[in-house]
Amino acid sequence: MRTKKFITTPIYYVNAKPHIGHAYTTIACDTWARFERLKGNDVFFLTGTDEHGDKIVKAAAAEGKTPAAYCDVISREFRDAWKKLGLTPDDFIRTTEERHRVVVQAILQKIFDAGDIYAGEYTGNYCFGCERYLTDKELNEKGECATHLKKPEVISEKNYFFRMQKYLPQWKEALLKNPSQISPEGYFNEVLGTIDELIKNGEDLSISRPKTRLTWGIELPFDKNYVTYVWFDALINYVTAIGYGTPNFEPWWAEAHHMIAKDILKPHGVYWPTMLMAAKIPVFKRLVVHGYWLGFANQKMSKSLGNAKDPLDLADKLGNDALRFFLMREMNFGSDARFSEEIMMNRLNANLANDLGNLVQRTLSMLKKYDCGPNPSAPPHSSRGAIDAALKTLRGDYLRYFENFEFHNAIESVFVVIRLLNKVVDDFKPWALAKENMPECAALLNTLAQAIAAVLLYLRPVLPEKSAEFLTLLKVESAQEFPESLEEVTLAAQKLETWPIFFQRLESAE
Ligand SMILES: [Zn+2]
Repeated sequence: MRTKKFITTPIYYVNAKPHIGHAYTTIACDTWARFERLKGNDVFFLTGTDEHGDKIVKAAAAEGKTPAAYCDVISREFRDAWKKLGLTPDDFIRTTEERHRVVVQAILQKIFDAGDIYAGEYTGNYCFGCERYLTDKELNEKGECATHLKKPEVISEKNYFFRMQKYLPQWKEALLKNPSQISPEGYFNEVLGTIDELIKNGEDLSISRPKTRLTWGIELPFDKNYVTYVWFDALINYVTAIGYGTPNFEPWWAEAHHMIAKDILKPHGVYWPTMLMAAKIPVFKRLVVHGYWLGFANQKMSKSLGNAKDPLDLADKLGNDALRFFLMREMNFGSDARFSEEIMMNRLNANLANDLGNLVQRTLSMLKKYDCGPNPSAPPHSSRGAIDAALKTLRGDYLRYFENFEFHNAIESVFVVIRLLNKVVDDFKPWALAKENMPECAALLNTLAQAIAAVLLYLRPVLPEKSAEFLTLLKVESAQEFPESLEEVTLAAQKLETWPIFFQRLESAE
């Protein structure tokens, strides 16, 4: 059945250029979006940039730019990066857009009218150097601003608050009835703990800043002396983009899936659902959370990787597919993963150069050398029963792993079949058969070529460029997007001339 999937990355804050963390989330969403599209679902894949706030005002001033001009530049860098990496978002939202202002103000007004936004006294640690309140995380062990090495002043002022406390118990109850709404499981538990903690301390959510301190934001519709601060601006992007207030909205929102890194679990897992409840919008369908890449920032890349400093440098050196494959295969979704040049080389050489690259290279070379195909009328080889059984298992595993966001396991399940195919080559030795039994040699090589096509069909979400290239080369037609037997895969008759190397082995610099 054809369904809708609304898939979102967080919107990225434009105080820095795209880094590996941004790239990972966006690539993971792209992999997921491609998988859903291949399954025949209607996908709306959203990403964008978060552009308001005092940090942006500061960053712009440091470059002698207006905040608007500064945001245009950095936001463009994000869009260009995703384009360069071959990613396929359906929309890119900026929180400085008019379509967003309208929705933010409509939702603020609705919640204010219902009595769930009120004026109160906000007390916090204010750093006059930073010109803003600091969070506890921004203080050093002496309780000073980590940037200015000065103790912030405790100041109080009038601000507006969202009555979050009113909705926390309801949200907890709903979540306990539907634990898979937040996954992997560890993050569901973390959210429950956070809800309990917030209920205990009894605090509501501060949602505004006076214009005397900050003008770079969306004005509160009920008090023009204030702008809304952070979450009522940023999180609402998810409903703006699919047309909140129009008939377009509900069908997409009913299938809303957010992906985030664990650092923004609290706002997405606690603030956002309570905001939605207050706005009388159903809570998102699912929130999926991944860990961090450790060791990338202080990694010194050797010359062989072009002294890469960011994901774009790496993609330049390796190709988009190889970077993407590494990130999606190496990280166990939900946990942290370690990056080093060695880990990456080992992974890519083992999987793409050895397992898959070698299988493709030797099969195609022998098809050409023995001049026997691809030929769709070649009879099936005796290994076909085992290959079909493996494909049937693969289909079940692969779909289930994708549904659970176990990208690493989904990819590994394809490599189980690839390793079986290499074993078939080693066991039946087509180079020996070519001398003794040419009909069996032809049957074997054609069966293998079909099987290569089958695994490439499965690898499309994670190796979109390479799989398209070789599926086109092999003139593949398939009755199923993810075939469970070779019967569903046909290769047109042709004589292969040349083909590119599937993946060039990476050599260490030493
Ligand atoms: Zn400071």
